[in-house]
Amino acid sequence: QHHPDRSTVWVGPSGRQVPIGPGSFTFIAGPCAIETAEQTVEAARMAQSAGATILRGGAFKPRTSPYAFQGIGAAGLKILAGVREATGMPVVTEVVDARDIEIVAEHVDMLQVGTRNMANFGLLQAVGEAGKPVLLKRGMSSTIEEWLMAAEYIAQRGNLDVVLCERGIRTFEPATRNTLDISAVPVVQAASHLPIIVDPSHAAGRKDLVVPLTRAAIAVGSDGVIVDVHPNPETALCDGPQALLGTELRELAQAVRRLPPMV
Ligand code: PEP
Repeated sequence: QHHPDRSTVWVGPSGRQVPIGPGSFTFIAGPCAIETAEQTVEAARMAQSAGATILRGGAFKPRTSPYAFQGIGAAGLKILAGVREATGMPVVTEVVDARDIEIVAEHVDMLQVGTRNMANFGLLQAVGEAGKPVLLKRGMSSTIEEWLMAAEYIAQRGNLDVVLCERGIRTFEPATRNTLDISAVPVVQAASHLPIIVDPSHAAGRKDLVVPLTRAAIAVGSDGVIVDVHPNPETALCDGPQALLGTELRELAQAVRRLPPMV
């Protein structure tokens, strides 16, 4: 049972906007973190040739450990803006600090709020005023109700262009980094008009599960997926074990094509 007025969020500049919402299955891919221009261009080409229509890539990386790679910041935004022009793909990137919103919004098409900031209400209000669509990830320990209320903080500031992203929750199970709560998709679609996509890469933390979890996302009616890809996962500065290679991304794209989305 779906909410009667499900919304479509359009991402990108006019003339090359990509829809996320009912009736389409949006394929977003790119590197977990922007490392260099070459790595980003290569990952974007891999994503685009596999059929992805939106590019992801983190310039500001909120990591569990303050000693882990934190992203290359503003330099990464410039790389993303260049690749956006070169490929024509709209770009989504995470913003972790309200003070960075202006510069991030100047360079990309969609602002991501990550799992660690889902309940950062000041940040949510600020992205609500930024004039760009928002990808709101589920807090890893948040209920669906808390997540929907986080979306309300954005909407309350006048921005209704919010896409929710189920990215796994913390459970007792250590076999995967987080447990993908696949039931969140139909639960959200019944309760809310907002589109919802799935991030199998950050949920599992393991690339061997990305294709099966994508199949699950399609089967359950998700409005899309967002996946990590890297030209050389072994040297990746962030989350290499979950990144797909180009050939693996094409396999995933075939899975996307074989299973038409439920409407
Ligand atoms: C990401 O998508 O780069 C990311 C860090 O995801 P999450 O906030 O879900 O961990």
